[in-house]
Amino acid sequence: MRVGVIGGGQLARMMVPAAVELGIDIAVLGESEGASARIAVTTVGDHTDAATVLAFARDVDVITFDHEHVPQPVLRALVDAGVAVRPGPDALLHAQDKLVLRRRLQQLGVPQPEWAEVADTGELAAFLERTGGRVVVKTPRGGYDGHGVRVVSDAHGVDDWLAAGPLLAEELVDFRRELAQLVARRPSGDIAMWPLVETVQGGGVCREVFAPAPHSTARVERVAREIAHTIAAALGVTGVLAVELFETDDDRVLVNELAMRPHNSGHWTIDGAVTSQFEQHLRAVLDLPLGSTRTVAPWSAMVNVLGGPADGDLDARVPQLMADQPAAKLHLYGKATRPGRKIGHVTATSDDLDDAVFIARAGAAFFR
Ligand code: ADP
Repeated sequence: MRVGVIGGGQLARMMVPAAVELGIDIAVLGESEGASARIAVTTVGDHTDAATVLAFARDVDVITFDHEHVPQPVLRALVDAGVAVRPGPDALLHAQDKLVLRRRLQQLGVPQPEWAEVADTGELAAFLERTGGRVVVKTPRGGYDGHGVRVVSDAHGVDDWLAAGPLLAEELVDFRRELAQLVARRPSGDIAMWPLVETVQGGGVCREVFAPAPHSTARVERVAREIAHTIAAALGVTGVLAVELFETDDDRVLVNELAMRPHNSGHWTIDGAVTSQFEQHLRAVLDLPLGSTRTVAPWSAMVNVLGGPADGDLDARVPQLMADQPAAKLHLYGKATRPGRKIGHVTATSDDLDDAVFIARAGAAFFR
């Protein structure tokens, strides 16, 4: 069996060891020779070019993704050529376009922030008035890590974006914390879910993940699972799906957005679960039986390593971390450092949450 992954980032990179263990061939269409997943890059090319992507897909059994940026016409061309694309274009559209997602969740009756499609300052002014004077505005497409998300209290606050087309306006949710429910679904319909996790964002970028989400009520856990199940089944998602959620003080659970691929909120599963999200993604897109999502320790904590303003020689910190925190599991992505860029993560597992968090933070701190 041979899986083709479009995109050579860290998610593709972390699929490689899982593929090796399962005896699955993996090929990556990467953006450059030096891509994070370079060990598996067989084609360097542009994922927006249909001819490049079709040629790459010719000798694989299934195409899957490291990111959501392959244009719909290219995805459709793959399907028309008889290639198995997982997740398929219809499902993936909901992770590509936040307005499409909001409309669909509304139809499905899935709880989400109050929202509106706004095409001009007049419509934004009306939404501001209706929802308390401060709202979040998002570009429907192309956003990532907080780019394309802006909090505004002035209807002229996104004039620079409105020229490009309608925007998504959302109520500014006063959430208690952010959660994520990770689920995997195979084409035959089987579904597997890991425990609900808490995610901590800073500046629009995921910083830390605690698994399972500490102090969760049984009701919140149940609602998160129901939401993820509904979305995965109704949208026909194949592979891993991450449902990003807000938990409010009155125990409401609202959907923020979706990712249809392994996700930062699931990196802990490499060290903290029987089946990692990367192995599960491969099993799911190949329509193989799914693995156990049981945790191997009561608690896991994951802390991202982000590039800083003056990083110097990061390689020199690795042995220091290893000596200081032998229980920390270091995962580096082989990427050049740049301020705010995700260049790795550190996971720790323990019987004690504080212990796991301390080790993971102490490990990641060597890169600051
Ligand atoms: P991206 O596509 O860049 O990841 P998101 O839509 O996930 O953008 O938003 C990034 C972060 O901004 C979220 O993780 C959350 O912290 C904050 N955010 C997004 N939408 C809202 C909202 N409606 N209310 C409050 N905070 C929000």
